[in-house]
Order: sequence, then structure tokens, then C-alpha cells
Amino acid sequence: LAAKKHPDHRSRFAVQGVEFGGDLVPIFAGPNMVESEALIVETARSVKASGAHFLRGGAFKPLSFPYRSEKYTETREDGLAWLKIAREAAGIPIITEVMEERFVDAVADVADILQIGARNMQNFPLLTRVAKTGKPVMLKRHFGCSLRDWLGAAEYILIEGNPRVILCERGVATAHTHRSSSRFLLDLQVVPAAHEVTHLPVVTDPSHATFWRPWVKPMALASIAAGADGVMLEVHPDPDNAAVDPLQPIDFDAFGQLMDDMDAVAKAV
Ligand code: PEP
Repeated sequence: LAAKKHPDHRSRFAVQGVEFGGDLVPIFAGPNMVESEALIVETARSVKASGAHFLRGGAFKPLSFPYRSEKYTETREDGLAWLKIAREAAGIPIITEVMEERFVDAVADVADILQIGARNMQNFPLLTRVAKTGKPVMLKRHFGCSLRDWLGAAEYILIEGNPRVILCERGVATAHTHRSSSRFLLDLQVVPAAHEVTHLPVVTDPSHATFWRPWVKPMALASIAAGADGVMLEVHPDPDNAAVDPLQPIDFDAFGQLMDDMDAVAKAV
């Protein structure tokens, strides 16, 4: 179902009036975690004013370690409620992650797009359950999976009769873990590779791939040049004090500038 049937075959669909698979390059922007109502409302207003199409932010987070401090904790149902407030306050649709089958309905109640995180890419019961909501799904690529595995996972959503699947490349694992040699490697080559074999839109997430603020802009621009159908970016009002992964978000000004630069690259290619 994910396979291209002819060379020009590209899925085109709209989510809250934002078209995927056409000339527009939808941008998803926001903090890693929905930390507070004030933070998510402020961010929603700012990224919307800069031209973002979707507000991102996790209320449920696949955090690498189970230890929690007051600052470093999931906001869960509260976070979902704050996303809903931000959606109304700024007039911007929401993408947020769902990690467990038991929370699918609660997340779907708020989200315009349901995000499946990299770690859950092959959680097939979750994929099936999410597909059945009928909501669009962003399927992040697991950092250790091939394009074939990724498309296999997409089939689990498509086979339920849900055609609005967006693929998201978020960096693959490398042998190098030190920052100077990349934690993950943004697989830009998979963008044209995916376009060769599937009609589904392919977006990239330079923030999670690079894990390092100075590299986000070049990889975002390179994504557009590589033909990405969208870009997801972590944006935070005070990046150094972000509750999660403070090394990777960009601030509001940098995001506004990057929007202009991405636009220039999109026009040039
Ligand atoms: C995220 O987008 O918040 C996230 C956790 O991403 P990934 O699943 O790609 O690690």
C-alpha cells in the first residue's frame, strides 16, 4: 500500500487545511516537552507568527532514563490539556506523541496528527490502534531500522484504511557517540530513496538527529534541498533551560530566521 504505483505517484492530503505532498513544506515547531501551560501558549503564538504550520510538544515522553526531578518529568494529562489551550489561543494545529495504546483516545482528542516515536516504530499493536482513530499519523523512523522496515511499519497503518501517513527521518545510530562525531546521523539520503519507492510524504527532524543546536540550521536547509516534504524543529523560549535535551532547541529569533532561510532554499531547488 505504501509503494509507488507510477513515477509521479505522490500522496496529497490535507490536515487542518495544511497540504502535504504538494508544493508547501509544512513546518512542525515547538518544545521537546510540554513543560507548562505558559510555555506552550507562548511558544504556540511565537511559532505561529513565524509561519509554522503545526505546534509540536510531548506530554508523554520516551525519556532515556527513568529518573525524574521536578523539572524533568512528563506532564501527561496536564500537558494534553495545555496543548488544547495553546491550540485555541494561537490557532495552530497540534502534533504530539502517543506511546501507549491505553492513551490513544486521550491523545487523539487533542492531536491533529498523532506522532509515533522512533522507539515505537515497530510497536505493531500501537500502530494498529492509532490507525483506527482515522487521525493522520507521523511515523518516526527507528534509528536502527532500514527503509524497508519503516515502510513495513507504515503498512500497518495503511492497511487499516488510514491513508494519511507522514514518514519522519530523525537520525540513525552511528558507531560514534561523542558529540564531535554525531550521536545520530540525519539520513538525508533516505529522503530521495523513500521518494523513489513510496508515495508517502517524508519529513525530517534535524533537532533529534543532531542533538546539537549549531547543526540544526544546516541540516534543516539540507533537508529542504534534499526534497523533504516537511521539517520538524525543536523551538523553546529559553533553550538553555529546556527541561529536556537543552542542547538541541533553537530560540524564537533563530526559528524566525530559519523559516526565511528554508523558504529561500525551497524556492531555489
Ligand atoms: C520527539 O519528537 O519528541 C521524540 C522523542 O522523537 P524521537 O522519537 O525521534 O526520539
